[in-house]
Amino acid sequence: MNFEIARKRMVQTQLIARGVKDPRVIAAMLKVPRHIFVEEAMEAQAYSDSPLPIGDKQTISQPYMVAAMTELLELTGSEKVLEIGTGSGYQAAILALLANKVCTIERLRPLALKARKVLDSLGLLNVNLKIGDGTCGWLEEAPFDAIIVTAGAPAIPEQLVKQLKPGGRLIIPVGDQYEQTLQKITRRADGTISKEDVMGCRFVKLIGQSGWRAEE
Ligand code: SAM
Repeated sequence: MNFEIARKRMVQTQLIARGVKDPRVIAAMLKVPRHIFVEEAMEAQAYSDSPLPIGDKQTISQPYMVAAMTELLELTGSEKVLEIGTGSGYQAAILALLANKVCTIERLRPLALKARKVLDSLGLLNVNLKIGDGTCGWLEEAPFDAIIVTAGAPAIPEQLVKQLKPGGRLIIPVGDQYEQTLQKITRRADGTISKEDVMGCRFVKLIGQSGWRAEE
């Protein structure tokens, strides 16, 4: 299988055809080899139009969702970005090409260790990964220009909003365990908050202090 051709086709038919426009996001999606973030047995499906299992009952998100959420962050290259839910590390790799520094948090150690290896193999040295509960944010690294949550939350974690710089953007799926609305929260320069519903989506659960309980 020619992965480069598959990747080009993915970008054309799944992203550009659906309205993804940011040329930097498109370039990053063309560059990052998505197939190395999935298990070997899944490689042939890596560029298909769907999420895929990555072990531990978790998923790598659909390419379109990765691109659409990334575009909403409005990155220009100078930003410090926080990702909650490293998973395979694919979204972090895309962010690493588009921002100055990426901080990413994963609660499941096996996934975090695997993601670290793949990110290192790509030489993405601007990704700082930690294992823990991302619903509390990352106080030592805050504030952030942009925060992306790649798991479904029951409500917007207040700590994350607090860790946004003035002008900062938070993209987060909010809803019940079966369906969510992707929301964009902007902390305006004067400190007030604006909220916009972007689209319906379906993510695995955000589990933690300001998320779902593990057994729910
Ligand atoms: N962004 C990932 C990627 O590119 O592969 C996909 C993320 S997957 C849909 C959601 C991830 O969020 C899972 O790996 C899950 O373990 C993680 N997660 C759930 N709750 C979390 C929390 N409170 N803190 C950090 N990670 C969390």
